[in-house]
Amino acid sequence: MTAQQQIHDLTASVPGFPKPGITFRDLTPVFADPSAFRAVTDELLAPFAGSIDAVAGVEARGFLVASAAAYAAGLGVITIRKAGKLPGRVLAHSYDLEYGTATLEIQPDGLAAGARVLLLDDVLATGGTLGASCELLEEAGCTVAGIGVVLELEGLSGRANLAGRTVHALAALP
Ligand code: 5GP
Repeated sequence: MTAQQQIHDLTASVPGFPKPGITFRDLTPVFADPSAFRAVTDELLAPFAGSIDAVAGVEARGFLVASAAAYAAGLGVITIRKAGKLPGRVLAHSYDLEYGTATLEIQPDGLAAGARVLLLDDVLATGGTLGASCELLEEAGCTVAGIGVVLELEGLSGRANLAGRTVHALAALP
């Protein structure tokens, strides 16, 4: 079974979370299923295999897929974290989120200049999170080779907000 089929079968829709009017798409059952997690990992990596130097993940569920994909590719993983979690010198970028505003941070020291990075997260909604993550990676001297998400929430203009970037979504829901 393809990752797309398994994502559609296993994703839970939770009306009213985290606030009234929002339907949260919960991928927890996708990650908990051995076959689905393997398919998701393999298919996120496939378009970029052999052409990337590292995999980056966005806190928190992006870490799950980024670490699995990095391990599968024999690469290291870069963490893009919520504000205040990383020690030492950090770069920060604030952005609008579907449910408010937030700041993401990255540690630029130790990242190879010009490294081609595959950026992964669980869900693409408005694109604010991944847009800010791209800015951070590029400010840190990396090249964003592509963006991969397990699920794209169509209708929130996420892809339009990432115009000019390669976005690979395994599945889409309204
Ligand atoms: P965006 O910045 O694209 O609006 O929101 C994407 C970020 O918010 C992702 O990091 C994702 O984890 C989280 N997010 C937004 N909506 C949902 C949702 O319906 N389900 C899940 N699992 N995450 C969401």
